[in-house]
Amino acid sequence: MIVVMKPDSSKEHADHVISLLDGMGFSSCLIESAERKVVEVLGIAGSFDNMGLENAPMVDKVLPEAGPLLAASRRPGEETFQVPLGARATVGGTKLAVIAGPCSVESRAQLLEIAAAVREAGAVALRGGAFKPRTSPYSFQGHGEKALEWLALAREETGLAVVTEVLSSAHVELVARYADVLQVGSRNMHHTPLLRAVGQQEKPVLLKRGWSATLEEFLLAAEYIMVEGNHNVILCERGIRTHETYVRNTLALAVVPEIKRVSQLPIIVDPSHGTGRNHLVTPMSNAAVACGADGLIIEVHGKPAEAWSDGEQSLDLGQFRLLMQGLRPFAAASGREG
Ligand code: PEP
Ligand code: MN
Repeated sequence: MIVVMKPDSSKEHADHVISLLDGMGFSSCLIESAERKVVEVLGIAGSFDNMGLENAPMVDKVLPEAGPLLAASRRPGEETFQVPLGARATVGGTKLAVIAGPCSVESRAQLLEIAAAVREAGAVALRGGAFKPRTSPYSFQGHGEKALEWLALAREETGLAVVTEVLSSAHVELVARYADVLQVGSRNMHHTPLLRAVGQQEKPVLLKRGWSATLEEFLLAAEYIMVEGNHNVILCERGIRTHETYVRNTLALAVVPEIKRVSQLPIIVDPSHGTGRNHLVTPMSNAAVACGADGLIIEVHGKPAEAWSDGEQSLDLGQFRLLMQGLRPFAAASGREG
């Protein structure tokens, strides 16, 4: 059971609740984050009796379990949050937001070529990994800060916002200096110190679903970021691991309308990692937009066959242009501007 304190409550108000509980013979602990105080009553399972605690001063509500969405939940009648994607675009409004670029930033020339092409085709942000979370320690790990500099240069040249992954809490400040949006990858969705660290800085966060995470775990990971004060979280469905072998991951698109129902956070879809196959990226992009996704993140490469990572799921520049053109009727059908 948890006792959620009102936003303006003081430590004394929470201590009062703890002493009331103590008097009733219950142990409890105060969980305090930047924007919320919560008292968890320990060792209570089974039937729920709020013990009259909701009448104590500055108590907001008493809930049976310690897993509710407090910041990320949808309030009836309210619109999806609009999260800035650099200075010129947002995710979560009526306009579909497409983020595109290479899996890894390989060179200055590679990045600038792709950036110009995806900008021309209608993308609003450039993706590209500077710090790469590779499965093998013997695979290319990214160019690090040099790649961040090239991403910033590409932003200067094209006006595209920059989305790039941060792998560790130690790099949050460095990546936030260059990026418009910090990506937390699938492998790190459960890494709560990193979630807190990106919650304590001001740049928006693109949070990818862990490939074995349930929807509840995914949303609670977003909650970790939000309790630290950063409400600019973009969720990203990128496929989950199943028994299937014809795809790299199984793209779980039902999560899109379900997240729309339960959460006010915008949700985008990554059909590149979500399928792992070049020929499936366009149809699944269309499907994602048709079922209500606020945007897409797509891997694009000048020469996919020569890509240093994820070439088999990357579109070439022409394929990406065609994808963008083909999205228009699906965007219109789901009530969006293209
Ligand atoms: C990526 O976006 O290149 C990436 C590594 O994605 P994920 O974390 O979804 O595997
Ligand atoms: Mn990739």
